[in-house]
Amino acid sequence: MTSLIEIDGSEGEGGGQILRSSLALSVITGTPVLFRNIRAKRSKPGLRRQHLAAVRAAGAISGAELRGDAVSSTELWFAPGGVRPGQHHVAIGTAGSTTLVLQTVLWPLLLADAPSEVVIEGGTHNPMAPTFEFLDRTFFPQVRKMGVQAELTIEKHGFYPAGGGRLRASLRPSELCPCTWETRGKAKGVDARALVSGLPVNIAQREIGTAIAALGWQRNQGKAVRVDSPGPGNALLLGASFDSGTTIVSSIGSKGKRAEDVASEAADEMQRFLATNAPIDEHLADQLLLPMALAKGGSFITRRPSLHTRTNADVIARFLPVRTSFTERDDGVWHVGVDAD
Ligand code: ATP
Repeated sequence: MTSLIEIDGSEGEGGGQILRSSLALSVITGTPVLFRNIRAKRSKPGLRRQHLAAVRAAGAISGAELRGDAVSSTELWFAPGGVRPGQHHVAIGTAGSTTLVLQTVLWPLLLADAPSEVVIEGGTHNPMAPTFEFLDRTFFPQVRKMGVQAELTIEKHGFYPAGGGRLRASLRPSELCPCTWETRGKAKGVDARALVSGLPVNIAQREIGTAIAALGWQRNQGKAVRVDSPGPGNALLLGASFDSGTTIVSSIGSKGKRAEDVASEAADEMQRFLATNAPIDEHLADQLLLPMALAKGGSFITRRPSLHTRTNADVIARFLPVRTSFTERDDGVWHVGVDAD
């Protein structure tokens, strides 16, 4: 086993991704990790239920020894055993994000020598986290180009605060290879979907109307969809497809937030994405770095890298012998490259 790595959760972005990426890399490399100052830059620092579920899930897939795995804990000792592919079930117990828990166990299980089936219960459409549609239409199609063999299905939608959503991931052993994303290529279409559960469908229709008007899209490119969930909820998903892939941006409704504001939030983000020719959006950028490092190379063009992206690059470099470079180009977009040392 490799010697201990200490991770200071107050560095860079100072949020949950430092924990999730470190857990994944700890399991993959078999390196014990001592975490301090977990999520130090968040208003409620330490492990929330969702982060604790990620810690426990990483522990379950690797037979890890854990100390400090409690809600609010800011310190954690995590010493993995070997990866255990197979059937895994994680119940977050709140509306915490299922997709972020999946991020934690995905890469160790894909690199294992046998298939896995992972079921995660909690929220499927949360603010500040990938939505199911982002993983299904943006993230997985891109990482399949790197050799990932995975299918994702949503069995029930889950929204804050009731939760109760369920995602299922079927993962097969995957060999990762480097990939590059340079240009968008030709436009292939756009679509807008507004989901509602337990709320008037008129909310979804207003969101579609507002977003479509703001973006100059056609009425028949939008659709209001009723979904089944244990509690009320609403999400607006806007998609733009190019030869290079589909980008989904989202905005999540909440009590007291007007449908028009939900729509403007997503439409503004889509407008920012469409304003450049970069194929990789801000969120996919931070999520691609880990598989690129595991593939020992690759590059993409994106808008200005976020603090999440830069922090994730720093975390990855603590575990794997790779360097990530960030280079601004004359046309205002950035080249992000991962190279093996
Ligand atoms: P906290 O910030 O409270 O610690 P967290 O665990 O939610 O919590 P972050 O470190 O903020 O974690 O990481 C959030 C992750 O979710 C990042 O990978 C980010 O790119 C991704 N993400 C956030 N919003 C979206 C979105 N709208 N679409 C896709 N991915 C998203």
